[in-house]
Amino acid sequence: GVTVTLDHIMKQFKTPGGGTMTAVDDLSLNIASGSFVTLLGPSGCGKTTTLRMIAGFEVPNSGRIFIDGADVTVVPPNRRNLAMVFQSYALFPHLTVAGNIAYGLKLRKIPPAQIQERVAAVLKTVGLDGLGERYTNQLSGGQQQRVALARAIVLEPKVLLFDEPLSNLDAKLREEMRSRIRELQQSLGTTAVYVTHDQVEAMTMSDVIVVINHGKIEQIGTPAEIYEQPASRFVADFIGRVNLLPTETIATGTDGCQVNLFGNPVKLHSFSQPAAAMLIAVRPEAVELQPDDGWNGPLLPGRLVKTVYVGQHLEYTVQLDAGPEMTAISFNRYPGLSAGDPVRIGLKPDAIHGVPA
Ligand code: ADP
Ligand code: MG
Repeated sequence: GVTVTLDHIMKQFKTPGGGTMTAVDDLSLNIASGSFVTLLGPSGCGKTTTLRMIAGFEVPNSGRIFIDGADVTVVPPNRRNLAMVFQSYALFPHLTVAGNIAYGLKLRKIPPAQIQERVAAVLKTVGLDGLGERYTNQLSGGQQQRVALARAIVLEPKVLLFDEPLSNLDAKLREEMRSRIRELQQSLGTTAVYVTHDQVEAMTMSDVIVVINHGKIEQIGTPAEIYEQPASRFVADFIGRVNLLPTETIATGTDGCQVNLFGNPVKLHSFSQPAAAMLIAVRPEAVELQPDDGWNGPLLPGRLVKTVYVGQHLEYTVQLDAGPEMTAISFNRYPGLSAGDPVRIGLKPDAIHGVPA
């Protein structure tokens, strides 16, 4: 793989009304060679536009793009040594599977014998051995996606770009393709930039996640950092499920941040930055329903609102006496407990993270 660097890139589009809108806003990012980096954010936040600038389909209004240290900001796509996999697959219906995969190699004037060899090898790699002579409309969605993947990797690009490549697959196939793509990328050592709005995809596949909102980076971090130490309310809310509770800051110092949570003094285990008003972010799995006596953490009284049986666990919604609702996830069943009953919930002290309100 190679490094990819985005240096203060900005992309604006004209709006129908004659104004301009900023799709990508002063975005800077260093992508390490061989790493799998995911751009994650809600629809319309600028993910595809960013990827298209890396690919060379769009030119930024300002800022520069480097691949392997070379400034490629205005270099055309076919001179960047990268390949892209699209959500729509974008396969040629009049060509066979092998024809689709060979297409880019033919453009590059690779000798036919070599093309045949490389197509056969890559068909094996993606698990489509023996399907080379089929037409793409004779394939399932998952098989078409693998053809698209094969067509990208057969070019042996230094950078692989993916734009929501699994969105059209059903849940089971999506899961299978996640690990297939990840394993393939690791074995090839190719740098990968992957775009998705699906946080589970981002969490399970990436070395690094870049959370984007309104064209700007909210946070860059490993999946664990993003999940456990979100940098903002937006990140805490967007990634996974979270309970956000209002607090007042009592003190911030070198030894951390102390807040008042509904009358309970709480020391934050971690926080993104101190502020006069902080929200504490606690994941549902760090909330204990009916904890044992001697619970070492904040305890809050409330009433059970509902229980949802999910199969592998249960989800309890509790209305706190202090006002907000909270969700707890547990493997325990509480047969004696019904909606409306008083309960206590305990917050695991090492899972209490603060973000500015
Ligand atoms: P994402 O991939 O995160 O959903 P996009 O990068 O596709 O977001 O789009 C970001 C914003 O830029 C959106 O508001 C979108 O409507 C706008 N946009 C994208 N491409 C164009 C274009 N070619 N012309 C005008 N507006 C565009
Ligand atoms: Mg998009």
